[in-house]
Amino acid sequence: MNECQNLENCNFFKRFENDKNKHLELKGFVFMFCKGRKQDKCVRKKISQILGGSQFVPPNMLPNGLPMAGTNKSNWSDNVIKLI
Ligand code: SF4
Repeated sequence: MNECQNLENCNFFKRFENDKNKHLELKGFVFMFCKGRKQDKCVRKKISQILGGSQFVPPNMLPNGLPMAGTNKSNWSDNVIKLI
């Protein structure tokens, strides 16, 4: 299976790569989405494509479109909220 073409620009993936403990939750998402068969279902990828760049994707958004554990959507733009 090919890797997602956004790997190098994706804050989610960069964050995972820099996470020394490679938290299990994030590891699962990378396995399923970034390097797996669900990459075309990634909400981060969709938002990046529709809004025109990875800079528009909230840093705390998981590939499934939910906020990371312990965070919320309060800083997400209306444009992002409309797309999820
Ligand atoms: S989180 Fe989504 S956009 Fe980012 S690298 Fe993984 S599959 Fe690609």
